[in-house]
Amino acid sequence: MNLSLSRLAPASLVALLLLTACPAKKDTAETENNAASQPALPQAPAFNPDSAYAYTAKQVAFGPRVPNTKAHVQTGDWIIGQFKAAGLTVKEQPFEAMAFDGKMLKSRNIIAQYMPQAPRRIAIFTHWDTRPFADKDKEKKNAPLDGASDGASGVGIALEIARVLSQQKDAAAPGVGVDFILFDSEDYGYDGSTQGEKKNLLGQQESWCLGSQHWAKNMVPANYKPNYGILLDMVGAKNGRFSREDLSRQQARDVVDKVWNTAAQLGYSDYFLFSDSPGITDDHVFTNQAGVRTIDIIDFLPSGEFQPYHHTTQDNMSIIDKRTLKAVGQTLLTTIYAE
Ligand SMILES: [Zn+2]
Repeated sequence: MNLSLSRLAPASLVALLLLTACPAKKDTAETENNAASQPALPQAPAFNPDSAYAYTAKQVAFGPRVPNTKAHVQTGDWIIGQFKAAGLTVKEQPFEAMAFDGKMLKSRNIIAQYMPQAPRRIAIFTHWDTRPFADKDKEKKNAPLDGASDGASGVGIALEIARVLSQQKDAAAPGVGVDFILFDSEDYGYDGSTQGEKKNLLGQQESWCLGSQHWAKNMVPANYKPNYGILLDMVGAKNGRFSREDLSRQQARDVVDKVWNTAAQLGYSDYFLFSDSPGITDDHVFTNQAGVRTIDIIDFLPSGEFQPYHHTTQDNMSIIDKRTLKAVGQTLLTTIYAE
């Protein structure tokens, strides 16, 4: 994903610039979150970070998951096999999409449903492809990257949540069904700050998130109406910093508060910062447009900057930290059990 200003109205653009200029400013009332005033946390099963780490490493071991490559096909097949092994109902949504450079990308979205008959549902979105070039790298700008945090970590957490849910006896099942919706071809977009010499055949925003754009126009399941959605993007790096992103706050403030308060009660406020950040182009832009109120949990600083590993060859297994995986995974499982 990429920083986006284009979709913002002029008023919010001004606010954004002000915000970006004063990154240290915090909302004191919200920062001083009083745990005693929060509802008690539900009993939720334990999220196993070793397992999530292994799922992440396995994807990276296939090689970069760039569309039209063997590693991409193999990884997609493996992900589907993992969801099926956990007993989930899996659907594939194959599609071809044109990238900004004119290349046709053979892609597929993967949809895995836990308790598909449950009327009340939550969506967990993430992308499973890898950016084809490390364009923000100082030296290897055209090299592929492992996408350990940017891609593999979100899938790793989704697979571990699916595994844990599938192991619960009926009496210990949550009160909602969960849909894991994994988008393809999210990260093949045009970044004007690094690719200025290339021609972009698509819009600035439309060059990203090709899988969620396709899904938003052709929803699987049809007429999909979950309570809300949570997007995971770059959720595995050491010292992950999840700020409250602008579009998430605009579209689903209650969900942002619920998730961030749950994280605080679990002791993860060093990851889930009670600080706001500007809007970004990510899959939640298109899921929100499709009517699913969606927040983005993303490693993105309140200043509006990404961490240094973003879209570089540093995004490999050496930056993946089990504590970050645990913070995100346990917060999500607890949120699911609170419904
Ligand atoms: Zn990316």
